[in-house]
Amino acid sequence: KVETLERLKGKENVTQSGQKIDVCANIGSREDIERVLRNDANGIGLFRSEFLYMESPGKLPTEDQQFQVYKLAAEAMGTKKVVVRTADLGGDKLPENMEIAGENNPMMGYRGIRISLDKEEMFKTQLRAILRASAFGNLQIMFPMITSVEEVAGAKKVLEKAKAELKEEKTAFDENIKVGVMIETPAAVMISGELAREVDFFSIGTNDLTQYTLAMDRTNRKLTGYYNAYHPALVKMIRIVTNNVHLEGKHISICGDLAADTNMTETFIQMGIDELSVAPGKVLPLRKKIREIR
Ligand code: PEP
Ligand code: MG
Repeated sequence: KVETLERLKGKENVTQSGQKIDVCANIGSREDIERVLRNDANGIGLFRSEFLYMESPGKLPTEDQQFQVYKLAAEAMGTKKVVVRTADLGGDKLPENMEIAGENNPMMGYRGIRISLDKEEMFKTQLRAILRASAFGNLQIMFPMITSVEEVAGAKKVLEKAKAELKEEKTAFDENIKVGVMIETPAAVMISGELAREVDFFSIGTNDLTQYTLAMDRTNRKLTGYYNAYHPALVKMIRIVTNNVHLEGKHISICGDLAADTNMTETFIQMGIDELSVAPGKVLPLRKKIREIR
């Protein structure tokens, strides 16, 4: 019997043989929160916070403006988790007020965690906002574009500063908030064993991991025919990362576009991936696929 998508709401993501996997959703706007609820996702696996930085030209979002949005997501999801990725600016996502002088390779340039570590005040403001919102739900923090253990240490140091400030101010926050990293560079794959010791979870960003592994700009239209997310190098990398993170007993998800590709679902489940995070509209089709696997 074919289950309609609507009937899958409230059901588990379980295969015929009883293997379970979480299906969370990716969001990139306030409006997406409603879509996540409507599609019955198990949580928000990737909150792309960049939109907050892009919506008011010439101004950075204040701590309070950010806090309101993170709190909205945390409260809407209740006990379900919300993974807020700190600003992954640069590349194709640049706020108007941020100057980045003529880069020849913006995708390989001033991006993600590099900007955050360089602009510590801006970074700390975001971390304070996330921490404050963590008192209202199940928030987690994730750092993008990681290539080294030192970057993780640097980011955690700023997080500790933000926590110390809030404590001093007697502001409530989740002291045990989980911290994770995106695995989206080949370097991060190669040091995934070391990184797994430093964090609580990984999320594989297959969009960037594909472009950096295959040396193919994900925005270059001339390369669309060559861009192959099924490349054996990618599949091997995902397997390596999954094994390394599980050796440390930590959690792994995939949040790039490949997570929603139902040709890959069985492979991901066999690998032991704990969670797939996809666009809200893809949650139920993916649940349907999982429930059909024998
Ligand atoms: C990715 O790189 O796969 C990812 C999920 O992050 P973004 O697409 O926002 O770069
Ligand atoms: Mg990415």
